[in-house]
Amino acid sequence: MTPAPIQIIDLHFRGSPRAVAAFLVRGPQGNVLIECGAGSTLPALKQGLQEHGLTPADIGHVLLTHIHLDHAGAAGWWAQQGAEIYVHAFGAPHLVAPEKLLASATRIYGDQMDVLWGPYLPSPAERVHALNGGEVVEVAGLSFTAHDTPGHARHHLVWQLDDVAFVGDVAAIRLEGGRHIRIPSPPPEFEREAWLETVDRMRAVRFGRLYLTHFGAVENVDDHWARVATLVDAQAELARDLPDRETLLARLDAFESRDLDEVERERLNNAGPMGMSADGLLRYWKKLTR
Ligand SMILES: [Zn+2]
Repeated sequence: MTPAPIQIIDLHFRGSPRAVAAFLVRGPQGNVLIECGAGSTLPALKQGLQEHGLTPADIGHVLLTHIHLDHAGAAGWWAQQGAEIYVHAFGAPHLVAPEKLLASATRIYGDQMDVLWGPYLPSPAERVHALNGGEVVEVAGLSFTAHDTPGHARHHLVWQLDDVAFVGDVAAIRLEGGRHIRIPSPPPEFEREAWLETVDRMRAVRFGRLYLTHFGAVENVDDHWARVATLVDAQAELARDLPDRETLLARLDAFESRDLDEVERERLNNAGPMGMSADGLLRYWKKLTR
């Protein structure tokens, strides 16, 4: 059997190319989206589908790696269109009743909420399928395996299709074509030990290719995982002494800026802002030392 074709759809988040992706998988019996982006990027997603000759009605299933807004903010819209949504059990309640999620996002983004993320609609409960990892989901004539992959977030899944993995944020952020990677360590669930264990487990699967939501395909898989593990560890250490936020931001900046120019830094900030990573690191250490 020839592998199912996978298309990368650029969601042009905040007008920035190759910052946030969704993935279209054409199966023998239908079409599947992995990730669906935010409400604000729905027009770009629809446009991307149209370029492949599809309309939203052609999408029967949406598989989410996790429910952060840049990955899944539009899930409710898809569910209300009739698509079936597959998500980690810890994330599922927030799709059905998003009030808490939106309240905490509003604390972070304030009046930028709508500009950044657009509308976030609740998903009808009967459309939401909650998974714990280990399940095989048969949709569109394809078999996807869900892997429980905490570290970036407790409710994170990696989706496996044959020897390909859709890795969400757990294989970090990489500008397409570049070598530099950034570890997104946001609050409230960044957890170093869990992330390292996840990397070990995913590395052992020996995927042939990874698809990063930020952004695109990675072919040198083992090398990539090794670098992710090293950086998760090193980045966590930057906050061990619980510095104030400004100090930590300066450390993070120095930590990664050696091989970055301004344009690359700007593009990375668009895909995974540093302030968020600083907050996640501080929260992680505070929890440990409490
Ligand atoms: Zn995320």
